[in-house]
Parts: sequence; C-alpha cells; structure tokens
Amino acid sequence: MKAARFHKVNEKLTIERIPIPQIKPDEVLVDVKATGICGSDVHIVYEGVTLTGFLPITLGHEPSGVVAEVGENVTDWKVGDRVVVSAIVICGKCYNCLRGRESICINKKVLGIHFNGGLAEYMAVPSRNLVKLPDNVPFDQGAICTDAVATPYHAVKTQGRIKLSDTVAIIGLGGLGVHAIQIAKVAGASRIIGIGRTPSVLERALKNGATHVVNINDGNPAQQIKDITDGYGVDLAIEMVGTQDMIALGADCIKQGGRLVIGGLGPDNIHILPPTIFVRQELEVVGSYGWDIREIAEIVMLLSDGKLDLSNSVTQRFELDDINRALENLKDRVDHPVRLVIVQE
Ligand SMILES: [Zn+2]
Ligand SMILES: [Zn+2]
Repeated sequence: MKAARFHKVNEKLTIERIPIPQIKPDEVLVDVKATGICGSDVHIVYEGVTLTGFLPITLGHEPSGVVAEVGENVTDWKVGDRVVVSAIVICGKCYNCLRGRESICINKKVLGIHFNGGLAEYMAVPSRNLVKLPDNVPFDQGAICTDAVATPYHAVKTQGRIKLSDTVAIIGLGGLGVHAIQIAKVAGASRIIGIGRTPSVLERALKNGATHVVNINDGNPAQQIKDITDGYGVDLAIEMVGTQDMIALGADCIKQGGRLVIGGLGPDNIHILPPTIFVRQELEVVGSYGWDIREIAEIVMLLSDGKLDLSNSVTQRFELDDINRALENLKDRVDHPVRLVIVQE
C-alpha cells in the first residue's frame, strides 16, 4: 500500500510502498478515506518538539474510512462499516481510565504519533477506537471531528462545563477556536465573543456563530469584553493560543465566579491574578487536552442531525501524494486554514 512516511525532523515525508498492516485479534483494518492534518503534525515534522514512537513512521491522527477487515475477537464491526477513528489509545485500566477520564489515561498513546497512522491507504486500529460514521456525514467532515472538533468540544463542554445562557469568550480563532464558537452556540451560550487580531478571521468567527468579536489590536480587549457583557465579564473563557498574554487576558475577562479553560499549548509559566482577586472572586482555571471517544460519538450525532455544520471547516483538500505541500501550507498558515484534509476517495 501507499503511505506517507516521516523519517527525520525537517525532511519531507516520503511516499512509499509498504505492506498492508497485519491486524491483531482485537483490531480492525480501516481503508482510510480522509485524514485531517493537525498543528501537531507540523510540530512533529518541522520542530521536532513532539517525539514519535519510532522512525520511520506513518503520521496522521484524524482519520475516517471504511472497515476492510476485522480481527478474530471483533464482533461489533463488519467489513464495509463507515467509521471515524479516535486516535487516542487508552489502557482502560489506570486510575484515570477507571474514573472515566480517558483523555488523561496515564498510559495514553496516539495513533499516528506512537503507532502508524492514517496518512496511508490502510491503518490498523483497536476496535474500541472506532465510532460509526452515519451515511449523511462525508468522510472529510468525519475525519476532522476527531481532533479539530473534539479538542474544543472537550474544552467547552467537559472541562468548561458550559451552561445554558452562559456568556463565553473564545480567545484564538484558528481551527480550534472556530469550532469552540460553534460548540458554545449549540450548547446554548447567550453572548459568544470571538477574540483575535486578523479582520478576515474575526469575520469568519461571526459567520460561525460569534455574536461579537474583539480585535486585540484595538487596545484593552478585557475592557471591550466587559463592555459587551454589561460590565461583568464572561462566565467562561476558552483560551486556544497558549501564550502568557492570551492566558492573562482570559483571566482578566471572566466575571466573579467565572472559569478560564486553557487549551493552547505553550512553554511559559502561567502568571495570572494576585490571590486577593483570584481567591475573593472564586475564579477557576482549568487545563483541557485531547478528548475521549464518547465525545466523538456525541459530535458525530450533532453532525448527522444538522446541529453542527462543518461544511466550511475543510478549507483545503489534497491527495496523499501532495502531503508535503499540505504540511507547508499549514505551517505557513496560507489563507488562514481551518482544516486541511488529505482525501483518498
Ligand atoms: Zn492533532
Ligand atoms: Zn488508562
């Protein structure tokens, strides 16, 4: 089969012919139809900050496809089923898994980072990592609901514990932020404020359900957010950038008793408010990373029922042979992508 293989940091992926994976008794072979390209792939290929399980490896952790073969112990899937692959492989046994917090399984591994992934014609997947993809959801939208949508879903719904009528600020309006806006809208948020610095990106946030936008370059964004929320600040801020200034903005724009969820990854220490404010106002700051497979099942249901609309989320499609051009476009953020998807239909 054809596969895009990563050999070394800062080298192009190579398209190679390798054997179709042999599946284990609890695995399913998936004929891959679409694979989203993620910022993590850019980190792996160009920066070397995320180490893969081995080299060379097939990347790709946002796949969807069709079941091509099932292992001898697999009873719940059959050849021809349309599926979404959740790339997070959990142990199911650690204390976090046993308490239902699979996104922080202490033995967590990721398909496409620690095992061969979806930038190939076929991939082997543990059968518990599959969610059925309804016929009315295209493969490219199914693919991106596993990370590009599941990551903000976990941040807004699970870690953010959003409630009906909450006011929400979304800081950072790339692929994760745009989907966080859509999820806040579906969850019944009242005012949804998108915060960014590029006019076209702010415009896109309004099209995706933001009721207001704030351009950071216009000065004092926290005050602008307070003005939009009758002077109170928001119930919930979702930070998707991972920089000190944006995290501080998130802490500055929540109301008394409000919650800040940090979903952006960055290397710097977090400095926010003095305890005299943080404690007296009973503020909360929560991290959010990854997702669990139940959340993907919920997203697929919302998609299939037309409650979530990802039809504008796949901003560019490429063939597998064009993987390096796709990665470079994402690295250089050509045309402010929401999601780039490799299609093999
Ligand atoms: Zn990712
Ligand atoms: Zn575990």
